[in-house]
Amino acid sequence: MQNNEGQIKGISGSVVTSRCFPNTSIYEVARVGNERLLGEVVRLRKDMADIQVYEDTTGLRVGDPVTFTGELLSVKLGPGLLGQVLDGIGRPLGKLGKISPYVSKGIHIDTIGDEIWSFKPRRHKGDHVGPGDILGEVKEKGLTHMIMVPLSANAESQQEIAWIAPSGEYSSGDTICEINGRAVKMHQKWNVRIPRKAGKKLDLNRPLITGTRVLDVFFPLALGGTAVIPGGFGTGKTVTQQSIARWADVDIVIYIGCGERGNEMTEVLEEFPTLKDIRKGILLIDRMILIANTSNMPVAAREASIYLGMTIAEYYRDMGYNVAIIADSISRWAEALREISGRLEEMPGEEGYPAYLASRLAGYYERSGNVIPLGSPERTGSISVINAISPPGGDFSEPVTQAGLRLSGCFWALDKALARKRHFPSVNWAQSYSLYIETLDDYFGQHISEEWIPLREFALGVLHEGKTLQETVQIVGRDGITEEEKWTLKLAELFDIFYLQQNAFDIIDAYCDPTRQFMMLKTLKILDEEVKRALYSGVLFEQIDSKLSFARDLMDLRIKENEAYEESLNSYITELKNNLSNFLAV
Ligand code: ADP
Repeated sequence: MQNNEGQIKGISGSVVTSRCFPNTSIYEVARVGNERLLGEVVRLRKDMADIQVYEDTTGLRVGDPVTFTGELLSVKLGPGLLGQVLDGIGRPLGKLGKISPYVSKGIHIDTIGDEIWSFKPRRHKGDHVGPGDILGEVKEKGLTHMIMVPLSANAESQQEIAWIAPSGEYSSGDTICEINGRAVKMHQKWNVRIPRKAGKKLDLNRPLITGTRVLDVFFPLALGGTAVIPGGFGTGKTVTQQSIARWADVDIVIYIGCGERGNEMTEVLEEFPTLKDIRKGILLIDRMILIANTSNMPVAAREASIYLGMTIAEYYRDMGYNVAIIADSISRWAEALREISGRLEEMPGEEGYPAYLASRLAGYYERSGNVIPLGSPERTGSISVINAISPPGGDFSEPVTQAGLRLSGCFWALDKALARKRHFPSVNWAQSYSLYIETLDDYFGQHISEEWIPLREFALGVLHEGKTLQETVQIVGRDGITEEEKWTLKLAELFDIFYLQQNAFDIIDAYCDPTRQFMMLKTLKILDEEVKRALYSGVLFEQIDSKLSFARDLMDLRIKENEAYEESLNSYITELKNNLSNFLAV
């Protein structure tokens, strides 16, 4: 027996135990059984290794061979990743329209193949380059894919280019550059568990515009920040994430599907390839990578899938792109962690989750951020993380939601009661928060309007007051509140239908850019001022309310095309002023 060959001593679901060797390392990849199933060493005990197997372990027997490969779980990075649908360990499931949810057991296919790309050098023979330096570029879909000096190569040092390929067609496996006797290809490998080193972390002072009003205005996410979307079944987690994937102002989206039901992932696989990125005029999938946990894979692959997604995200971040990772849902990832931990007979923590649940999640979140990647020319790139959480029974006190609450910069709480009323997105504005709000104020103040902050405060004031008045009316009745309060109650309702609700399936309403968000808020403010002026002059609220169809008018305005939107709002205000002046004239 060679000194990297062991034998299965025990099998517990997806965890297999084998004898190992002094040089066996944690997270080393092992090939298990006669079918050579892919696994990873997750624990070492004296001369025994526990291996988490990423494929169906049915048919494995005690005594079957185990090969320790000496390699770590890694992914091949290079042109050809965009538009891919991968399984949890990076095997391609096919491209557009030819997706098969099955990969035969034990088969190892690289994430990207040796396709031909048109390479254009950016450096010359004799130049000195270091890790992360951009050597050249290829066009990948609509994006410029930078070919960089691999990070692993001689960490800090600068070395001379002995040869660089001239512009032309090359396979991604061809050598395109020789640096100090070392061949550099268009692709490179990286271990998914190890963060790719970046030069410098930057402040999170730019927003990631989602186009969803309630999120961008009240609970904004920073580019490079983290957000969780907890919500019970049917509250709109998937729709919200898909709409962010479609509209968010980022270059690349990595969508990790840990579907709760098999058909949910199938829906994503069928639907996403058909969606258009209207603003960029390309197919959405052309700037996306989908990671799907397939039906023939044990839950263990889910555990690995988020690291695979993060590594790909870091690779594009290093080129200077803004990447969003969207995971639906992180609860299924945590369940995989729980199952593996159970198989390893570790001491269970709260609700059976391992005690390291929060620290694992924190380690993952630490890989997000806004950075200056290594290498020249200097560039910035970011990774933003948006995770759905599906707490059983919608109970936010469970450990995964609580970990999300502690670790994430944005908490976008979805509300069952709102969803039941078909109030979408069902974001509960009283429960949600954003830690980025103050740091992003400067950006909104400078790029949208100085009035952004006062208008947001005005809006929140109306919503809070409306909620209190609702409770008061339930106790004392409508006659117990003043005319002005009746109007505030009405205005809170109008906020709800005009501003907070947003139909993800309406071609116009689905995406609202910040300028439009601002104009809409401003309209509500003017509406408030005008109605109050009339009330102060003695007109009764009922008189106005019975004559003016606020709700219908605002609903119409919500779905008016972007072209001449300002004009539509202005003519609404002019008409409103005219109508109100009629009351005053009576
Ligand atoms: P979850 O993933 O939380 O189980 P879904 O995202 O599947 O819930 O949403 C359930 C349903 O709610 C959707 O099929 C859709 O009809 C409706 N819905 C959710 N969000 C919106 C939205 N923003 N606009 C319109 N309908 C929505």
